[in-house]
Amino acid sequence: MPDERHNSWLKDVLGIDTEKYVAALSAGAQTVRTAMVRGADAAEDGVIAGAKAVAGLASKGLNAIEDGVLATETAPYEAAMKSLDAEIKHVADAGLDTRHYAAQEKSIRDAYADAIKIADKPTRAIALGKVVLRANQAAADAKADVARVSKSAVEGVSAAVTHLRDGAKALIDKLPQANKQKPELAKRLSELDASIAAVGKVDDRAARAKQLKQISATADLLMDAAVRAAGAQDSDAVQAVYSSALKDRYGFEITNPSGMKNTHLDKVYQMFEKVPETDVVQGKLKTLTYQPVDEKGKKNRGAAYGGAVIEMGDYGDEKWPYKDPKTGADAPVNGFSISTLHELGHSVDDRFKIMDENQGKPGGGGWRKETLEKVADAFIGQFKAGAGKKLKIDDKQLGDLVRGALGGAGVKKPDKMSNEDWAVLQPTLEICAKRRNDKWPWGSPHEIGGRAYHEAYENDWVSYDMAVRKKALTVRDYQWRAPGEWFAELYAYSYFNSKPPPPGVDGAITAYMYGGKAAAAAAPSAKK
Ligand SMILES: [Zn+2]
Repeated sequence: MPDERHNSWLKDVLGIDTEKYVAALSAGAQTVRTAMVRGADAAEDGVIAGAKAVAGLASKGLNAIEDGVLATETAPYEAAMKSLDAEIKHVADAGLDTRHYAAQEKSIRDAYADAIKIADKPTRAIALGKVVLRANQAAADAKADVARVSKSAVEGVSAAVTHLRDGAKALIDKLPQANKQKPELAKRLSELDASIAAVGKVDDRAARAKQLKQISATADLLMDAAVRAAGAQDSDAVQAVYSSALKDRYGFEITNPSGMKNTHLDKVYQMFEKVPETDVVQGKLKTLTYQPVDEKGKKNRGAAYGGAVIEMGDYGDEKWPYKDPKTGADAPVNGFSISTLHELGHSVDDRFKIMDENQGKPGGGGWRKETLEKVADAFIGQFKAGAGKKLKIDDKQLGDLVRGALGGAGVKKPDKMSNEDWAVLQPTLEICAKRRNDKWPWGSPHEIGGRAYHEAYENDWVSYDMAVRKKALTVRDYQWRAPGEWFAELYAYSYFNSKPPPPGVDGAITAYMYGGKAAAAAAPSAKK
């Protein structure tokens, strides 16, 4: 049986409950493995074989168990990657863009290569265990999504094309004979009908998917032109056409519990057409919903993502203040459209775990998780080394004041402090108070030792690398709120403008944005 040292190694290092582990040992090899990967789907043959090896080693002492655990990681890893590879091949066979899947695969392979190099066995076991979890998750996600996306690429797009074609025809038919655009639109409609008939005769699904993508774009342009000619923008009939097209193509729900008017489903369709099919048809995007009122009871001018739901507020035609990352020049864009892509970006990040893996890299923003205490220490350090050198104040009082300002207690002169001393301290406390998340601190970074610190969300503190912010890769200050926003803003800007993200963004991240091919090209499964 496992000895004391082994018990604490299992508990402290692997986080495995010893009693459960021992029970699992006797209950059978597969259970052991399941306990070890803590809930990951572990049904592959390789896993069972590996677990049997561990069970066999259990009585042979700590070192053998460590080696056994390490050995068991290889089989499930290989099994999961093989399964992921097979799914990527299905995506390619469906005539679809594989690069986001391939980028995820490469990221996992890189993590595995790093993990097996770790000399310390328990550390290596943890790292490998995490990679196995990621590989299993990626394979399971792919299994769930790829069949859907393949169907979307043919049957889904076909249905969407029919909705758009019929919608356009209804509008064109209703145009008065005198309307100058009517003949031209009617001609485009008959051309569209001809291409729909032609694609119906293509047997190869991949070839059909590729042609359908083109036809869908043509159908959307025709629908858009017909809407303009008829002056039917935002009409219920037009929104209904796009609602059907979106649901049938991508297979997600659209709900609008308040019956809000500004649904802009035409814009949603146009934005989703800009990204790979695999970004929209995936398990982390299940619902698009509308919420016209925010939590304070005011008009909701924003959007949000969470739990596979994109929630859009009440947008008109307002533009949002983006800027060209290279020149810094204003480049305002339609707020609803870019917000749709921004929220989709959150969902893609959630699906492929992009920032989880890359946020600490310089090309990922150089993000770090912080606590209020650590942020306070950074401010205290900077103050003592600078303006505060001459100030006589005890550490406890200074600490309380800084932590209070950061924590929302405000900035108030202590009764016994002289006006001169207060004049030295107050500016630092004012800056601290402005690090709170409701003060838009990402718009006014304050640098300490090369980093900027703030509260991203309530009680959620972060810092990032100011040297990265000084590079030309900011599309909006909001990007610097948190790692997820950093990704979502760059994703949205890149796809909205059909432009690769700015240089300086890490290749593992640009792979998920417009034009990002670097990571995909390196993945074995992409070479087809
Ligand atoms: Zn966001």
